[in-house]
Amino acid sequence: MIIVMQARATEDQVRAVERRIRDLGLRPHVSQGEFRTIIGAIGDESLMRAELFAALDGVESVMPIMKPYKLASRDFHAEDTVIDVGACKVGGGTITVVAGPCSIESREQFRETALAVRRAGAVMLRGGAYKPRTSPYSFQGLGEDGLRILQDVGREAGLPTITEVMDVRELEAVARYADVIQVGARNMQNFRLLTEIGHLEKPVLLKRNPSATIEEFLMSAEYILAEGNRQVILCERGIRGFDHSTRYTLDLSAVPNIQGVSHLPVFVDPSHATGRRELVAPMALAAVAAGAQGVMVEVHPHPEKALSDGPQQLAPDAFAVMMKELAPIAGAVGRQLQKPK
Ligand code: PEP
Ligand code: MN
Repeated sequence: MIIVMQARATEDQVRAVERRIRDLGLRPHVSQGEFRTIIGAIGDESLMRAELFAALDGVESVMPIMKPYKLASRDFHAEDTVIDVGACKVGGGTITVVAGPCSIESREQFRETALAVRRAGAVMLRGGAYKPRTSPYSFQGLGEDGLRILQDVGREAGLPTITEVMDVRELEAVARYADVIQVGARNMQNFRLLTEIGHLEKPVLLKRNPSATIEEFLMSAEYILAEGNRQVILCERGIRGFDHSTRYTLDLSAVPNIQGVSHLPVFVDPSHATGRRELVAPMALAAVAAGAQGVMVEVHPHPEKALSDGPQQLAPDAFAVMMKELAPIAGAVGRQLQKPK
């Protein structure tokens, strides 16, 4: 349920509503909009009765949120959420380009990539240290050594970093070294992991599971938001289709579809979606044209030697070409590419 406060409601009146929510055994979530405050009451819906709030001073209206996701919904928070990641502002009217290798393989490989993607205009650096591989015999990532490289190189390049956490046991370390925590497609419904991440004050990029509906995707975001962490970025990365000529099927309509119902920033990962390097730039351009607030692209200095996802990684020069093509597309849809600071 959401309680919309009058534009002139006082802080004390807001506190009184929060108290009543807590007294009922529910949790209040306050959203301070430009013009008015909205308070979400989250918890057992059978305890929510509009008349318990409608008569409180300062309350303008009380409405049920019909969707199963509440805090992720635009009903609760009408304006786009903008998340500060270092100097980057993720969401709203700007476009964040995240780039870097699939896996951090060595300090040299990661450093070379970081400097190249920064030069080309990326504003955030990705690199996997814990890798979710289909085969237990494939390269599994450098683990904590990889996290150290991520942090050092990110600082040297002046770019905030993002890396995947696969397990609750690694969460503390990932949160310590990285600026953004990535939840991979395979873990989108690892509810324990989502709940633990919800306790942190750290931006998180949540990837869509290839067989998740939009509603399931937003319910996973809700797990994080419900614990208090409001800094959630959503990432479409392809869903399971029937055509094997691409790795997955990029669901580009997910971008405006989600943006219609949620205030959270939406990114697209054309690398994992297609699995083929020649399709990455066209899909990145299409994602920006469709309104994505960010793209995440895999770049490797020598893709043919990559220890994971070689066929979909761009060489740095191809990434630089893509960045040049992206700027006018962003301008055409009234957005601006963020520049490295
Ligand atoms: C990744 O981004 O490194 C990754 C493994 O992607 P996904 O979880 O979307 O498969
Ligand atoms: Mn990859």
